[in-house]
Amino acid sequence: MSLKKNIQRIKQMMGLDRADSKEFDDPERERFTCQDCGNYDYKMYMVNDDLWKEYGNDNLTLCKSCFEKRIGRKITKDDISQHKDAPVNFLNPELKDLYNENINQLRDIINEGYIKLSSEEMKQIDAVVPMLVDALSGEYLGDGKYKHITGIIFNSADGTNTITNIYIGNNLNEKVLNAYAFYAPNDKRNPFDNIIIFQQFNFIKFFSGRQYWDEFKSEGGENIGIELVRKNLIHELIHAKDPNSNHKFDDEEYSNTIESIYYKSWKEFKAITGQFLNTISYNIDRNYNIDVDKILDALDNILKVYAGEVKKFNQNAINLLQGSSIKSSYFVVNSYIADIIMVRTHNPEGYKKYLRELYKTIEALKTTINKKSKTLE
Ligand SMILES: [Zn+2]
Ligand SMILES: [Zn+2]
Repeated sequence: MSLKKNIQRIKQMMGLDRADSKEFDDPERERFTCQDCGNYDYKMYMVNDDLWKEYGNDNLTLCKSCFEKRIGRKITKDDISQHKDAPVNFLNPELKDLYNENINQLRDIINEGYIKLSSEEMKQIDAVVPMLVDALSGEYLGDGKYKHITGIIFNSADGTNTITNIYIGNNLNEKVLNAYAFYAPNDKRNPFDNIIIFQQFNFIKFFSGRQYWDEFKSEGGENIGIELVRKNLIHELIHAKDPNSNHKFDDEEYSNTIESIYYKSWKEFKAITGQFLNTISYNIDRNYNIDVDKILDALDNILKVYAGEVKKFNQNAINLLQGSSIKSSYFVVNSYIADIIMVRTHNPEGYKKYLRELYKTIEALKTTINKKSKTLE
């Protein structure tokens, strides 16, 4: 269709053009009249090119129900997969069910298994943590002020490649007042429009001030702050990778401040458990020089704790979970335990899934470690 005609049609649709001129109106109407039934007032849609080539027509004029008669069945989500992001499809109320079906399947896939960070993403986290620590421990930006730090390129769990921008800031809104960091998807139709914000005022005590000197310095000091930045960055990046949290859909009840809702939410489930599982794998990689037997013992202990066989993490597990750089503080490891206990309380169905994932993850890690240590012998 020519640009001129296109503009004309849009004008007509908006009621800006009275379409008095019959000569213009009729050929236009013709162009959009369903060739099979004569309806000229149907909703536009786009099916995959090969399907249209086989069953469609050259002037692109078949209403949905006539097209379905031609193919002898209803249009399915696979028939529009090529143009699933096209507004004529995405915004078409007649195709809504197909999208819901898509979305539900996606949700099932995502709810099974945990969102793993790729080694590319972990590398970026390693590079970003010192930048964040630098900015967070620097001069106070001021209430309500933000500073852009950098961006992380990532792959969403549904395959979209995109970026999240990282800020430090001081957002005093009560919804995020107690958060170390939070994720904001902003425009849900635009996967590029999402940000992670680290709350500067909540980190100050880990890098300076009286509390730092009194409580933390003797127990591993600023390493606690660093590990906390890392833990939160992993958590928020999982939110970014999760289409439930990011751009595709988001219809479950959610609250940052009401614990029972927060820990019941599936997107928090994925961020909390994913952050823990990613940390185990990651810490094994970064502490590869640690005694293999100690790592294996730590993994067994972690499994026993969550299976309810033993009450506490042993020293090997603690060292593994919070990084060997923190000697005697339980701060970081306690925050992992507290989060997952809350999941067990508020999302028991999720907790069962978590146990299965934990078991699978630990078994896979043990196999890798055993293989590695054999080749080293
Ligand atoms: Zn028709
Ligand atoms: Zn979260």
